[in-house]
Amino acid sequence: ASLARAKEDKEALWKETLDKVRNIGISAHIDSGKTTLTERILFYTGRIHEIHEVRGRDGVGAKMDSMDLEREKGITIQSAATYCTWKDYQVNIIDTPGHVDFTIEVERALRVLDGAILVLCSVGGVQSQSITVDRQMRRYGVPRVAFINKLDRMGADPWKVLNQARSKLRHHSAAVQVPIGLEEEFEGLVDLVELKACYFHGSNGENIVKSEVPSNVERLVTEKRRELIEVVSEVDDELADSFLNDEPVSSDDLKMAIRRATISQKFVPVYMGSAFKNKGVQPLLDGVLNFLPCPIEVENYALDQNKSEEKVLLSGNPSGPLVALAFKLEEGRFGQLTYLRIYEGIIKKGDFIININTGKKIKGLLKTAKVGVDGGLGGALCYDLVVLKVLESDLWFKVANDGREFLVGDKEELAIRVPRLVR
Ligand code: GDP
Repeated sequence: ASLARAKEDKEALWKETLDKVRNIGISAHIDSGKTTLTERILFYTGRIHEIHEVRGRDGVGAKMDSMDLEREKGITIQSAATYCTWKDYQVNIIDTPGHVDFTIEVERALRVLDGAILVLCSVGGVQSQSITVDRQMRRYGVPRVAFINKLDRMGADPWKVLNQARSKLRHHSAAVQVPIGLEEEFEGLVDLVELKACYFHGSNGENIVKSEVPSNVERLVTEKRRELIEVVSEVDDELADSFLNDEPVSSDDLKMAIRRATISQKFVPVYMGSAFKNKGVQPLLDGVLNFLPCPIEVENYALDQNKSEEKVLLSGNPSGPLVALAFKLEEGRFGQLTYLRIYEGIIKKGDFIININTGKKIKGLLKTAKVGVDGGLGGALCYDLVVLKVLESDLWFKVANDGREFLVGDKEELAIRVPRLVR
């Protein structure tokens, strides 16, 4: 009995850990503010300590490169993926090179996302690449939240952009915030779930001050909250019950309904702000935690190669066989880095790798620099990992663990049966 108990505890532990992981991408039409937003996110989460002037239009890659993010180990985290911590959650941000369609690189990056932020410009609205990147995310079943950026700019019209998202992107969406002021007068945001106003103080907007809803937006807030409840009700039966009976909807119930609707991709919550003016980024991060799924809420399947490609649902369990996808190879300062998304099992320093094409072991590999969560718990993303020189043509590989605890079926070599992932 105590053995069963211990097993249960172990199970609960990894589920709890994975509950607090988000693997997200940030997608946008060029110039909407993806780089600025990413940088602000890394700043507010303490991942970087300074806000830099935005240079060039090279996108996140160039930016992250230049920032020397990972000092302790002298490893610069590069464009493919980075991580940060927000309120006890680990948020892994995976770069999605979104502008081109149907390339292996884009497809792999999208496939490893559990959720995404779609950045739209409140002046430019839904643009050509907004449509492309959104279509890609839809194709891969990636739930998303929208962020209407640049509310400080002349001509900012978030409501128009929201309507464009409904018509051009076919989003079933509603605002979860109402701005307080626009353009030069953009001051803060009212959270329609909590019904609190939120202001951003300090030179970088790092101090959040919450207060009552100011009277000049009260009417708008009432209207937009009703709209939010109505739109979510259309796709969520539980909320619909209270809505149709005209019952007051509590913040918690509304939050849960938005979460269900967003994760099932029936709804897109719309956030607003100005990344550049340091307003609205932290609430958006809360939205990522609240409304985007954790790894085990997303169904991922793999084909079991030992069982004539039988389709298996991956659990995220670290004691399962390793299933990972190498989604990006990158030349780093220390050689070639391979970025992995781990779906199940665990990977750790000292593991070796077998090229599944040749069946050969690759020597001296897996110089694990740092792995997602606690040595690479399944479901988490592993970043800046491995020096490996195979796999030009096919990024599939397998890893053999030498530690007993991860053996499956007590085989000598970890039975990594799976490599082909499907979604
Ligand atoms: P990306 O191409 O989507 O990565 O966009 P960038 O983050 O490089 O931003 C493009 C330009 O818009 C830069 O000049 C930014 O300074 C500017 N920008 C980004 N966010 C905002 C914002 O919230 N307000 C204003 N006014 N400008 C912004």
